Amino acid sequence: MTDFILTAGTIITMDQDHPRATAVAVSDGSIVAVGTLQECQAALPGATVTDSKAAALLPGFIESHGHPLMSGMATEAPGVSIAPWEAPTWEDALAIFAAHKAAAAPGQALIFSGFDALLHQHDFPNAVMLDPIFGDTLAVVADNSGHGVYFPTSVIRHLGWDVNPPVDPIGGYFGRNADGSLDGTAFENTATMAVFEPLAAIAGGNPLHQAMLYYARMARAGITTAAELTYQTSLKPAYEALQSMPGVPLRISLYHVTTAEDCAAPFESTVSSDLLMKQGLKLWADGSPWIGNIAISFPYLDTPATRIAHIDPTKAGEVALNYHRDELDAILDANIPSGLQMSFHVNGDIGLDVVLDAYERALTRHKLLGTDHRWRVEHVAAGRADQFERAKRLGVYVSMSPFQFYYWGDLLDGQMFDAEFGSQWQSFRAAFDSGVEPSFHNDGAVSPPTPLINIQAAVTRRTRSGALHGENQAISLHEGLMAETINAARILHREALVGSITVGKKADFVELSKDPFEVDPRNLAAEALVLGTWLGGARIDLDTYLGGSETVDHEAHAHLKTHVKHTC
Ligand SMILES: [Zn+2]
Repeated sequence: MTDFILTAGTIITMDQDHPRATAVAVSDGSIVAVGTLQECQAALPGATVTDSKAAALLPGFIESHGHPLMSGMATEAPGVSIAPWEAPTWEDALAIFAAHKAAAAPGQALIFSGFDALLHQHDFPNAVMLDPIFGDTLAVVADNSGHGVYFPTSVIRHLGWDVNPPVDPIGGYFGRNADGSLDGTAFENTATMAVFEPLAAIAGGNPLHQAMLYYARMARAGITTAAELTYQTSLKPAYEALQSMPGVPLRISLYHVTTAEDCAAPFESTVSSDLLMKQGLKLWADGSPWIGNIAISFPYLDTPATRIAHIDPTKAGEVALNYHRDELDAILDANIPSGLQMSFHVNGDIGLDVVLDAYERALTRHKLLGTDHRWRVEHVAAGRADQFERAKRLGVYVSMSPFQFYYWGDLLDGQMFDAEFGSQWQSFRAAFDSGVEPSFHNDGAVSPPTPLINIQAAVTRRTRSGALHGENQAISLHEGLMAETINAARILHREALVGSITVGKKADFVELSKDPFEVDPRNLAAEALVLGTWLGGARIDLDTYLGGSETVDHEAHAHLKTHVKHTC
């Protein structure tokens, strides 16, 4: 790889020792100098000088928690998203259904994802509602939460369930009419997969190509490193193939689900660890705020908004916990010797107390307190200042979900919860003040990859509608950028490699059309456009990258079609 010097209107390095520069010198994919053009030329004499033409060059954004492969399979063609950011109202979703039904080939199954009863303000669809739209066409609509699927009578007939309705499988259930026949709804994994798998098998599409499209979507949002928080060994060939594609735009860090027996096994791969590594383990403490199964100490309100989403307040306390404490302790004890980083999904404040209790016990018992373990907690929707301060004392890092606030914030504050709690959802200010160095994520496909919208929402405390909620939890633009760059690198243990424009790190950059400090923060994402990204000193060309899909043996990965498991 040739040496070169890249210039931009300004370079925001996210390196506190040298916050701004105008040139960066790159040799063999790594940064060798940062400063003025003259300083870079002195460091790398004779190197070609390239003007990026970007108003601002920053370290590439880092998605510290996501599910890239599954996101691609759920939302990229032939998968269709009706999520509220694509179809804001139920009427918009109906229009998407109709367009795809009209274009469907005979016998083809249509797979939709992203229904959200709260944001669509519509009851769960069922066969009575879906039959007039789909007729004989096979179709399934997956809930954005991953906990439900909805389907017309055509599917019930296709599966033979009109004649022989299935009994409820262990761990799931079907919605039924008074006579026991299916009503076109199924909930929880075993029941949803019984509907989803046979349709996915005939829906067409290549999982690896869909994942590549999602990689490209992330790259267009400025992301250069991402994490997979539901890794399991069956996904290894796919991730190795993805990371070996010429021009791959992302580095990937894997977190193995602890429900897999081999979760603590070492990860060996022919792919460079710079591009693909196993970093940690994933556990779940509670569920999703949007279906009402999070472990919170305060109640959901009984309002039209929560009623339409079938939220049952009695499921939202301590009963929402997925593990008893002794089970949690046993999982931690069994997996700590692997040396892998722990990562815990937890939304509710009760859930966070339990996770921090379990972490403290395990860290003490295994003599890890005071070491650089960086165990993490994910989402922390209702996390409080005292909990973040405790996390800091324990050396625990926090990955936050600004999209929860951005998309659902208007409902959270006053319709789902009392303002005392709802307005404080995603307490960014409290997290930063505690010193836990929070990172942000979009948790694809729970929300689309949009680091700049995450930052905009956290800086302004304004939701998608523009409404202001919990202004006391606003952070600075610099803090928001940290959450998407250096803090995210740190939570992935990748800060020696990426996260700032610093000598010795990889030349991973994002080009923006404006200096983010020179636009109205309320319009940050609309005005500071992503012009392109760089990975390891190469500017990403997404057309060439996606063209490489033709060389992939898609048959080798076709079995993944029936593998989609919407856990996030
Ligand atoms: Zn997730």
